Amino acid sequence: MAEHRGIPDVVTDASGERLVHAATIGAGVPVLAFDVGGTDIKSALFDADGNARGLRRTPTPPGGADSPTRLIDRLQELAGELRAQHPDVVPEAVGLVVPGIVDAENGLGVFSSNLGWRDAPLRDLAAERFGLPVGFDHDVRSASWAEHVLGGARSYENAVVLIIGTGIAGALLVDGRPYTAGGYAGEIGHSPIGEWPCPCGARGCLEAIASAGAIARRYTEATGEPIDGAREVIARAAAGDTTAAGIWEDALEALTLSIAQLTAVIAPEAVVIGGGLSRAGGALFGELRERLTARLSFHRIPALVPAELSGNAGILGSALHARESVGAAASGAGA
Ligand SMILES: [Zn+2]
Repeated sequence: MAEHRGIPDVVTDASGERLVHAATIGAGVPVLAFDVGGTDIKSALFDADGNARGLRRTPTPPGGADSPTRLIDRLQELAGELRAQHPDVVPEAVGLVVPGIVDAENGLGVFSSNLGWRDAPLRDLAAERFGLPVGFDHDVRSASWAEHVLGGARSYENAVVLIIGTGIAGALLVDGRPYTAGGYAGEIGHSPIGEWPCPCGARGCLEAIASAGAIARRYTEATGEPIDGAREVIARAAAGDTTAAGIWEDALEALTLSIAQLTAVIAPEAVVIGGGLSRAGGALFGELRERLTARLSFHRIPALVPAELSGNAGILGSALHARESVGAAASGAGA
């Protein structure tokens, strides 16, 4: 991970946040890539060598009834700025990845509570606006695809990618291909393993107890003390704070149970863990490995691997999808 090299990931300047690191996606056609999140959009041009140019983070326009159109307007502005800054890079396709429930095959943003759309034909809207083929996908599946092609999961055909941050998002790679079930698969954060309430309306969801957001929130609820994130709770647990230790224990047990079930049902060779909580390092990976081994018997225990592409996996996956869409458009035209 970039952090281990002690180099900052982000530089803030007048134009927003410029991201310092991005792995190369390798040689191929130049593409324009977007990774749209609930709060910010990452955008970049990828040149013929596969290097990101002008990679930066800017706010996502607010949700609402016309949010799909507003989003496409904003993407067009960002594209115009990138093209002006890098006139030597002429993109031949666009990558667009978005959060929520996503039907990649039909190009639909099926549902996003943050961004307020239902069945928005985002791929077609973008293709029309840019006049280019568009590779379209879910943000976390895209991140996991990048980890599969370029990062922590690249030696595995069967892997689960878990992004543990504010919530817990997941993506499955089965026999070398993303398993999506029309956009509904991979909701590991909302797999029920207990009885506590979850804001989604269901009970016992994993992310309501084991996400970095939940760990920090539960500590503040228990002590009345605001805290600087889950890693601070883990540090306090290690220093002998029994409230922190109990909350961290609950999170570890819940994650162990969830990964044990995944292991029994789809038998991933690796579970690749990214997001804020993955920076807890040994406190997380060592504990989970030990508990998983103790919990299971004949099962094939997956390798627990840190995600390698840091916060840029989503946009790298977006760029990979853009390049794939060029191939798809060419073979479609020839058929
Ligand atoms: Zn839930």
